[in-house]
Amino acid sequence: MDSVLATLVQMFDGTSVLVAAYDQFDRLRYANPAFRAAFFLADDETPLWSDIMRRNHGAGRGSVIRAEDFEAWLVSTQSRRGKSGFRAYETDLVDGRWLWMTESVRGDGWMLCIASDITGMRAEDRAVRQDRDFAVKASYTDELTGVANRRFVTERIEEMLRRPPSRAGGLGCVALLDIDHFKPVNDGHGHQAGDLILRDFARRIAAMVRRSDCFGRMGGDEFLLVLPRTSIEQAALVVERMLAVVRTARPVPDRGDVAYTFSAGLAEGRAGDTVAGLYARADKALYSAKMSGRNRIYCEGPEPERPAIAQQPRLYPNN
Ligand code: GH3
Ligand code: MG
Repeated sequence: MDSVLATLVQMFDGTSVLVAAYDQFDRLRYANPAFRAAFFLADDETPLWSDIMRRNHGAGRGSVIRAEDFEAWLVSTQSRRGKSGFRAYETDLVDGRWLWMTESVRGDGWMLCIASDITGMRAEDRAVRQDRDFAVKASYTDELTGVANRRFVTERIEEMLRRPPSRAGGLGCVALLDIDHFKPVNDGHGHQAGDLILRDFARRIAAMVRRSDCFGRMGGDEFLLVLPRTSIEQAALVVERMLAVVRTARPVPDRGDVAYTFSAGLAEGRAGDTVAGLYARADKALYSAKMSGRNRIYCEGPEPERPAIAQQPRLYPNN
């Protein structure tokens, strides 16, 4: 087996096909020379995918990115990247090459990327295929915040419930996140300030989400986090960190007095669960979090829902 592996690596070394593997945090863990050459990577470095894109974009090389705001593009792309089993698409490089990129994601979040050069192939239909890819992307994206929308998130919950459970984390969890007292913010500071809060929230939370998790906007001021193969205790810790980050946010420029918080309801996937059932239990836990003072997490549990251990109400007074 070892000699087969060594031969395989030699073959990857010699091919013009681009081969790379990313872990669940989207850190590059392997790339063959063709891949490293296309994305200007030194032999031994293992950067995050986001850093590869950012660095190359800044230097005007690597992938062509058709967006005015690179960071907004990154948030949006990351909210959908590498979450479902398999994806294939055409992409172009600044050097003029077109690649047919495939992404295969394992249950644990590792992703294998293989790309081949298709510059000379069926170029005449390329615009049509790009329009189709753009339309598919738009149908999965929330327009205001750029993160995944309800349709995409719902598909990820379905997928999570279908997959085999892991020993440590079971099927996984969902966390329903809802901004506290958002209506008075809109009424008091204006709809535009409200929009800034929604965008700020989406950007902050998206930056804290593992690639194997999914975060998106369900509508209004309600967002959902899907955490496959994650126990409710682990999920509560993740959301706990999000609560802390959001408490420090001052989303409206020149208005340091505008702060906001959110509340979260967590529920665990069970065998035989439906999306609607799981969502309803998370919603019930969210209701308990709201009723007990907001700015906190509640986990579903035997009646009544239990506050997450680290989330003692006295630590986080309602504000
Ligand atoms: P609670 O703490 O109980 O969640 O209180 P809340 O005021 O946040 O509750 P509610 O769900 O009633 O308020 C949601 C508000 O979100 C209502 C609507 O004015 C506002 N909203 C919904 N979509 C948008 C949007 O796209 N932009 C802005 N600015 N506001 C929105
Ligand atoms: Mg709300």
